Amino acid sequence: MKDFVKAGPTVTMFVPYDCNNACPFCVNKKEYRDTSSFSLERCYKSLDLLNRIFPHNDIVLTGGEPLADLDTLSDILSHIEDGHHVYINTTLPVPENSSIEEVAAVLNKHADKISCMNVSRHLKHYVKECDDAIFDLLKFRHRINCVIFEDAADPATEPKLNAFLERFKGHEVQLRANYSNLTLDNVFLTENDDLFDLICKLADYKYDLEKERFRTGFVFERDGSKITYHKTLPFAKVDGVVGDIIIRQTGRIYDDWNEYGQELNINDLALLEYK
Ligand code: SF4
Repeated sequence: MKDFVKAGPTVTMFVPYDCNNACPFCVNKKEYRDTSSFSLERCYKSLDLLNRIFPHNDIVLTGGEPLADLDTLSDILSHIEDGHHVYINTTLPVPENSSIEEVAAVLNKHADKISCMNVSRHLKHYVKECDDAIFDLLKFRHRINCVIFEDAADPATEPKLNAFLERFKGHEVQLRANYSNLTLDNVFLTENDDLFDLICKLADYKYDLEKERFRTGFVFERDGSKITYHKTLPFAKVDGVVGDIIIRQTGRIYDDWNEYGQELNINDLALLEYK
């Protein structure tokens, strides 16, 4: 089986489907207010174009909600050439006329294609959650993705985080700092980071992840399970160097995922500096 070692920027595709949630830390939501220019067909064309320019890139499917339409997700996954590492960010919705078994069965058909599925679950129920039993049905790597919106210095946060880690015991958990609090000055620091200190109380620190220009991470262990703490800036282009290439819901290609991002043309892609 082909397995490409990542070379070039990550290609992140914002699927043209909304999530119907309203998380207070969401930085993508406003993109979904007006869907009139969305085009899945153009998203496919852009995926194909970027596949030719960066044939070994990693691909992230995010939104919105990549699982809003399971048939389309299957189609997108089948469309992506084997060998790419594919990551999916989702809330793992289960349609009212379906079941966790049916959703897991659809996803498991693509188990070879999915490198990891990040499933949003938070200390507060900002998203509609299905039965946790679904995690035992998935036959590919998945991790629980939790943005800590609470103040880690508040004594009330510790029991909530402890209960959350107990709930997902045995699963990989990714804790994320609230993006809006991160800047180029503090993204790599652990000093004065109340959340880092709190995680150190609840889990055993193991090692640092490699620093990238716009994010870093720290690995912990608790009861034999891996817990990572990620700090990611709310932008991916630093000093003109691009960390992520974005396919927006319209199919247009940008060099960042927020309002600072600029639409790229093919010549820019050939000249692009990235890490
Ligand atoms: S589920 Fe994701 S995309 Fe939807 S509001 Fe929450 S953070 Fe935003």
